[in-house]
Amino acid sequence: MVSSLNHGLIAKRLAGKVAIITGGASGIGASTARLFQKHGAKVVIADIQDDLGHALSQDLGPNVNYIHCDVTNDDDVRKTVDHAVASHGSLHIMFNNAGFAGSIYPSITEIEKEKFEKVLSINVVGAFLGAKHAARVMVPARKGSILFTSSMVSVLCVSPVHAYTASKHAVVGLAKSLGVELGEFGIRVNCISPYAVATPMMKKHFGMEAEGCEDLAARAANLKGVVLKAEDIADAALFLASDESKYVSALNLVVDGGFSIVNPSLS
Ligand code: NAD
Repeated sequence: MVSSLNHGLIAKRLAGKVAIITGGASGIGASTARLFQKHGAKVVIADIQDDLGHALSQDLGPNVNYIHCDVTNDDDVRKTVDHAVASHGSLHIMFNNAGFAGSIYPSITEIEKEKFEKVLSINVVGAFLGAKHAARVMVPARKGSILFTSSMVSVLCVSPVHAYTASKHAVVGLAKSLGVELGEFGIRVNCISPYAVATPMMKKHFGMEAEGCEDLAARAANLKGVVLKAEDIADAALFLASDESKYVSALNLVVDGGFSIVNPSLS
């Protein structure tokens, strides 16, 4: 049999699947939307950056659409899931990727409660709402893949971003806990924990210029010369979303080029 790769074609690893990607208008989410669409999925991009989201969905064609969704708003998330089902008939993949880093504070004594809560609200409550409304559809269907974007800070402490670090640990706990509950219904729940990727979030919230982000992204431990890109995280999401990972659940997939292994003192 001649491989489809020999014809220069790609195997469509998400053919027939419907996916929601929160935080899909930018960075890792946008790269994942592109990759999922390329692999045959129908994609709903859910974000609060409406101009970026609409532009991306138009660029990607009729199988991709955009909906305004603040992940901290129960009603928005409910409507987003209902929109995916109404538009495409089902929901197979829920990628809870929207995130907010907050700021770096020199000391916990300087962090205001409201600022701490904002990070947890987007990163943890938002992930919870996405999983909850996805489960509403996936449990009766007896199948589905729920993904969360956590972070390398779920396994290491690299800078004093206390709220962010706490939130990304919480997401891993949520994935494990849900993996136990939802496994009974054939639903897999996994996390991806990236090392630094040069995205608008890194630039905006950590005050880094593009070159600084690229430098950081290139410093991934023992993989000299390799710069982690948003597309690499999209590849991890594709694996966990597809049936190729059908026996993988409650995993925290750390994509850090081995950084956490060669820097165990930070864990
Ligand atoms: P990004 O800023 O490019 O994308 C984040 C997206 O989330 C944006 O489009 C933003 O509008 C959206 N968003 C923020 N608040 C929202 C809300 N309330 N409702 C809906 N959408 C909201 O940054 P990114 O780096 O692509 O971040 C994606 C995920 O990856 C985040 O969860 C982030 O914490 C995580 N992450 C990023 C890195 C990195 O180095 N860039 C590393 C580890 C983990």
